[in-house]
Amino acid sequence: MFVAAMTKRRILVIGSGPAGVSASIAARRVSTDNEVTLLAAETSLPFEKPPLSKEVLTKGIDPSAYPIVPSNMLAEIDFRTDSHVVEIDRVAQLVSLSNGQRLSYDALVLATGGTPRILPELPLSIPNVFYLRNSADALALRKGLSDMAGKQVCIIGAGLIGLEVVAAATLIGADVTVIEAGATAIPRFGSDEMARRITARHEQAGVRFKWNTMVTDAQTTDGAIMLHVNNGQPILADLVVVGIGIQPNSEIAKASDLAVDGGILVNDQCQTSDPKIFAAGDVAKFQTTWMESPAMLENWRHALDQGEVAGTNAGGSNASYDAVPSFWSDQYDLKLQGVGWSDGCSSPVALRELEHGRMIEFYMNNDCLRYAVSIDAGRDLAIAKRLIERKIKVDPSDLADPEVKLATLLRST
Ligand SMILES: Cc1cc2nc3c(=O)[nH]c(=O)nc-3n(C[C@H](O)[C@H](O)[C@H](O)COP(=O)(O)OP(=O)(O)OC[C@H]3O[C@@H](n4cnc5c(N)ncnc54)[C@H](O)[C@@H]3O)c2cc1C
Repeated sequence: MFVAAMTKRRILVIGSGPAGVSASIAARRVSTDNEVTLLAAETSLPFEKPPLSKEVLTKGIDPSAYPIVPSNMLAEIDFRTDSHVVEIDRVAQLVSLSNGQRLSYDALVLATGGTPRILPELPLSIPNVFYLRNSADALALRKGLSDMAGKQVCIIGAGLIGLEVVAAATLIGADVTVIEAGATAIPRFGSDEMARRITARHEQAGVRFKWNTMVTDAQTTDGAIMLHVNNGQPILADLVVVGIGIQPNSEIAKASDLAVDGGILVNDQCQTSDPKIFAAGDVAKFQTTWMESPAMLENWRHALDQGEVAGTNAGGSNASYDAVPSFWSDQYDLKLQGVGWSDGCSSPVALRELEHGRMIEFYMNNDCLRYAVSIDAGRDLAIAKRLIERKIKVDPSDLADPEVKLATLLRST
């Protein structure tokens, strides 16, 4: 990595999720002359989000048990809580906070993440309607779920986070119905067969799925919520959780005329249309050599890794982002994992069935593995990631054959 001759630089990082935290640490690591300020809208230290739909709900663990990094790693960062940025002045190289403060920068990193998409029929103002993004949301939902044993809980959206909440509500003893606009669960994760197996695990736990169904209206009646749908009888729920994805927090970027197309557009150096401003994590739209077209990727590992590149470059060094994506989801005893990127691969070319219902699906492009997803096969998936990274040519019949150890394929060229 080339490190430019250093002068003192003032680096501001907006957002204290994994992208912002890793950007701050990376910018400081480039040079101790770098003055790094991390601006957090929240009033607490940065905590991880993945446990919010898992252990925080199912085991009652406090979100503060999951710091993104130990606090000593932020010792050399000027970490400011309660600092909500409302405006960027790109000409004066200043940001304004909601408390009226103005801070100057030589380089700026936008790591503002996303906000849950709100279903207009189910605004947060309706009692017992929940959305899940931050610690406060998770604690409120946990409290709401705590007396739902034997009661009707409805989850809108059968994506990864929605299904994690389904698993948590079921473990609490709620009677759970899922309303999903599409025909299967988590369609972008894997094949219909993969979705069928994941759905079957939920059905085994008593969950009912309403496919191709959308909420058209909602009314509160006697403390419960009546959900009218386009397809079938209304559904009465004591508690509703909406998990229909996020929209990127790109408003301040848009207002300052940075190039935004849903997410903030960045190049492989995480640079926006203004070379002094970088973006990373859920809010960034980017393309790597693994992708056919620009996209946003909403997962934890990506946010950490892309944040590191953005911070390194904001700090005056030179790094590129081309990581192979990887992500996971926990539902009951199932560990779902994915590596790679599936655009350009139309359907799985091979399915490896393992004992006890474990499985991996493989997607290829140009004789090379590009994407793999698994149920309870983490070790094999780690090897699949190396096959992808090294662009090793593989034979689909070897991928499908559980007798062929995946590690042996790493020796091919
Ligand atoms: C419930 C839940 C479960 C998840 N589970 C998984 C999982 O199992 N596996 C996985 O890979 N991924 C998971 N994810 C996704 C993962 O957590 C996100 O992709 C990751 O947190 C994105 O990091 P980020 O830093 O880009 O954004 P965020 O973590 O959203 O952080 C952005 C921060 O910026 C702040 N901010 C926004 N605007 C401003 C402003 N104007 N001024 C100051 N601060 C601002 C926000 O308050 C927020 O703290 C989960 C997410 C959620 C919500």
